[in-house]
Amino acid sequence: MKGKTEATNRFTRRDFLKTTAGAGAVALAGVDPEAAAAPARSAGWDREADVVIIGSGATGMPAAIAARQKGASVIVVEANSDVGGHAIICTGNVNLGGGTAQQKQYGVVDSPDLLFSDLTDWSFVQSNGFPTYRYNDREIIRAFADNAALTWDFLVSNGVTFVEQAPTMFDRDRSAARLSRAAPMDFPLIQLGKPVDASLARTSSSGIGLMRPLEASARKLGVEILLRHRMTAIIREQPFSGRVLGIAVSNEGKTLRIRARKGVIIGTGGSTSNVNFRRMFDPRLTEEYCGTAGEPYTTQDASGEIAAMAVGAALWGVMHQISDFSTYTVTRPGYIGCQYGYGALMPTWQPSSPIFDRVRALGLRVTDYQNLIMVNKVGLRFYNEAGGMGAPPPAAGRGAQPTGAPPTTAGRGAPPTSPTEALRHNWRNAANLHYSANEFIDAAMAGVRGEAVNGGGPIWAIFDSEAVTREKWTVAPPSVDMAQGFFFSGATLEELAGRMAANKYQGKPIPAAALQGTVARYNSLVDSGTDEDFGKPKPQYKIQTPPFYAAWATPVPHDTRVGLRINARCEVVDLQGHVIPGLYCGGESAGGFNEHGVARCTAQGRIAGLNAAAQPSA
Ligand SMILES: Cc1cc2nc3c(=O)[nH]c(=O)nc-3n(C[C@H](O)[C@H](O)[C@H](O)COP(=O)(O)OP(=O)(O)OC[C@H]3O[C@@H](n4cnc5c(N)ncnc54)[C@H](O)[C@@H]3O)c2cc1C
Repeated sequence: MKGKTEATNRFTRRDFLKTTAGAGAVALAGVDPEAAAAPARSAGWDREADVVIIGSGATGMPAAIAARQKGASVIVVEANSDVGGHAIICTGNVNLGGGTAQQKQYGVVDSPDLLFSDLTDWSFVQSNGFPTYRYNDREIIRAFADNAALTWDFLVSNGVTFVEQAPTMFDRDRSAARLSRAAPMDFPLIQLGKPVDASLARTSSSGIGLMRPLEASARKLGVEILLRHRMTAIIREQPFSGRVLGIAVSNEGKTLRIRARKGVIIGTGGSTSNVNFRRMFDPRLTEEYCGTAGEPYTTQDASGEIAAMAVGAALWGVMHQISDFSTYTVTRPGYIGCQYGYGALMPTWQPSSPIFDRVRALGLRVTDYQNLIMVNKVGLRFYNEAGGMGAPPPAAGRGAQPTGAPPTTAGRGAPPTSPTEALRHNWRNAANLHYSANEFIDAAMAGVRGEAVNGGGPIWAIFDSEAVTREKWTVAPPSVDMAQGFFFSGATLEELAGRMAANKYQGKPIPAAALQGTVARYNSLVDSGTDEDFGKPKPQYKIQTPPFYAAWATPVPHDTRVGLRINARCEVVDLQGHVIPGLYCGGESAGGFNEHGVARCTAQGRIAGLNAAAQPSA
């Protein structure tokens, strides 16, 4: 992990140092600024195409197809050794709507206007307090709503097969069921390393069923895909002015300059893997949150955003990225004892997968949080482990105490058991407010107060051998990642605490006395049958039978909800509000649209591809 963090930090630091040093725009963005220097039209180009697309995921691949179908020649550069980005390992739920053919087939009434209305309902307040759509940019949402059903048709016409079932409701689907599921068909699964079972085709969904058909269609149309080519800079005529001319990429130690006669499209997938970038929006998300969903297949390293900002681009809708308020930005891991424990992904990575050497462990699925306690980096319990994504406040009292003593302050009260019915565009929805989705980070931080830390630090699940038996866990590789310090055991709690210092994010050892005190206190709560400290419902099992275990259980960053400012045509806009000619963006690297997933990415990719292809050649 250190390597990855250093890599992302190195990229970021150098870029911004060069920016503040006032160097020319083309020299600002990349790891290899010399390669992008001398941006004149006469500069030597190694390759050229009408449209050059950065990233082959949910944005890049539709962009490539759309541009090619409009007659443009297209090069896609992809940093990874395979196509697809997060989209190819995603669950394959495609939430377009607006009147898709499948909605019509199953009698679901929907329209672009209804979709627009839902996505701009400023009054819709989630239970965690976040007004999901209040800060959505209306121009961007209108473009999405008008293109959603067209994008569904576009996906189908380019080989995507949707599971034959009625659309289901998801997330913002308040007026109509909009979710279709991409069938995996016979495409091999990256996670499994083998073809999908025939019984799953057309009945189950997967990102592979979305992306492999699109890849096949793009290749058939003549799109050139350059794998292991990482964009390192965007080349513009003048620093902060003029047209974008192309990009610089790095491939096996060599730098290439690729000219884009009509446009460059950024589809690099967001920024949550880049610690310094994500901390601009939430300083708490320090480096210990190291298991971003979708890693280690691809990272969201902010390279597209940074390269575009270096030629003048603005960010947009940054409020959407504040972790407290947006579901999906940070979640509790579904699997523990491994670095990459995102719940929807971990069961699918198998040792036969071509990237299992990077995944390293399957993780342990917790079926009953009564079997463990969670402690922070100083060995203290800090919340009710049996809570959801974030623990609900206990009925009486809440908050971590630095000494491990029971809290004395009154809590904010239990959340409503049945949320008030949301009324469309009605301010009374604010009555639905209760607590933050991600208060476990704050709770962990509260327990380490006094130390100069911004994040909550590593969070560990602590349990004993009886819990292992009850959960039927195998506490050995490949289930757990002992080699890289994400899982430890000890004959005593003292021995366990000492060993945990080997984890690179732990920093200093957990004080053995604190861990022993926390476990002793918890065991006494089991005796009394009441968790007076954090309100865990009737604590059931003591932690008392060696060996003892510590498994990594630190929250997982998920989506990127902040990105470059774009307009309805997916053109990138600068800090003066002017379009940057020849530069486009969509998906998780684009801002202004608070929406999970591939729907906005595929729609914006298609919009960007169509518009870039329609430009006159530079
Ligand atoms: C486990 C998981 C499950 C999910 N399930 C769903 C779901 O069911 N439904 C849904 O709607 N959404 C789902 N999502 C979210 C969805 O996958 C993403 O929102 C979507 O893929 C983002 O699309 P994108 O084009 O912005 O980025 P990506 O699809 O990630 O593509 C970005 C691509 O750009 C490449 N790249 C980055 N930087 C560079 C560079 N400098 N040079 C060259 N290439 C670069 C990356 O390697 C990557 O291939 C899921 C995500 C995860 C992680």
